Amino acid sequence: MPMTDSADYDPVCGMQVHDRRWVTTYRGREYVFCSEGCLALFRRDPALRLSHKGERARYDLVIVGGGPAGLTAAVYASLQHLHALLLARDLGGQAVDTSRIKNYMGYDLVTGPELLGRFRDQLLAQKYIEHRLDEVLSVARVADGFALQTRHGCRYEAPAVIIATGMHRRRLDVPGERRLLRRGVSYRLVHELERYQGQAVAVVGGGNSGIEAATALSRLGCRVTLISSGPLTGDAGDIARVEAAENTVVLTDHEVAAIEGEEQVNGLRVQPRGGGRERFLDVSAVFIEIGYLPNTDCVAPLVDRNRDGEIETGRDCSASIPGLFAAGDVTNGFGKRIIIAAGEGARAALAAGVFVRARQSGTASVQGPA
Ligand SMILES: Cc1cc2nc3c(=O)[nH]c(=O)nc-3n(C[C@H](O)[C@H](O)[C@H](O)COP(=O)(O)OP(=O)(O)OC[C@H]3O[C@@H](n4cnc5c(N)ncnc54)[C@H](O)[C@@H]3O)c2cc1C
Repeated sequence: MPMTDSADYDPVCGMQVHDRRWVTTYRGREYVFCSEGCLALFRRDPALRLSHKGERARYDLVIVGGGPAGLTAAVYASLQHLHALLLARDLGGQAVDTSRIKNYMGYDLVTGPELLGRFRDQLLAQKYIEHRLDEVLSVARVADGFALQTRHGCRYEAPAVIIATGMHRRRLDVPGERRLLRRGVSYRLVHELERYQGQAVAVVGGGNSGIEAATALSRLGCRVTLISSGPLTGDAGDIARVEAAENTVVLTDHEVAAIEGEEQVNGLRVQPRGGGRERFLDVSAVFIEIGYLPNTDCVAPLVDRNRDGEIETGRDCSASIPGLFAAGDVTNGFGKRIIIAAGEGARAALAAGVFVRARQSGTASVQGPA
């Protein structure tokens, strides 16, 4: 396997292991594992697991993504006894650091680490599903299904694949944005709010999220500049409220040219859209709220997507190619929520199970490459 063989990391899946529940010794060295499943895989062929050569393997189903959709799909695949593999950059997804989740059934209030930790534990307790921390670089069609190539040099094949890769925050792509991330530049208002109480701050984004952020900051006594590249497009009542706030200036039809500061943000350069004189805004923080983009790079050439780049899916989460399914925030499904992503993950796994069984019994086929 290409992952590290340090004793703190599971040599099978690459996960960091914090307790020593599953341990074995091989050639005088101790190895720890995240689960009984990974330990069993290691014992079957330790040399292979430590070889650091790109793995080649075939499964009934490969699931890509370790957020609520992918984790739920994995558990549902295991419950159907599918020989399945979960590939994910991390186990948890977008909401893993969130401190307050108030809309997941069964909990009045739960933190991201607790809820998604439970999702993860449920995955690790499953018998039939394997998992690896790895990034899928491409999904291609082959004669009998799909081939997935990963960052760690592995190649996996399966007749069915579920894409559950979620979304990421859209970035401005201006000078200073990356360098000053978490040093005044933020995409997650919720964690940063109180730190900037009473200060001059900027919010970039004229949709619902930007307006909400500007309103919350203005209530905290911040002097807020809300910058939007076009007119504000949120809820009419919210727009009226933000425009009426005494400590808020709204700059529509303006774009950010650069974010400035050495160790910490100390200002922002903006200019009218389409050109014009740049202005410097003296602010100590910039909150960027310009939406999300679906993570579809690995599969984009294969599937039909809508104008927002989301994968178009049918009632059973099937995408535009037989054998390919998608679930969660990456799809065109309405409502980007944990509970919806989890539900779609379950549905996609059930549909993939039907597809795989039909194919095994010769009643369905995946077309070869065009
Ligand atoms: C700060 C914040 C707070 C939120 N709070 C709430 C809340 O309180 N309640 C609520 O219902 N929703 C909340 N949400 C929304 C919720 O997090 C999402 O709707 C949900 O996480 C979507 O799940 P998902 O599995 O579709 O995608 P994600 O959670 O985005 O997971 C995607 C997974 O795919 C992996 N991945 C991506 N590309 C690849 C690749 N090429 N190869 C391998 N792995 C890949 C990622 O690493 C990740 O593991 C919040 C979101 C954010 C950002």
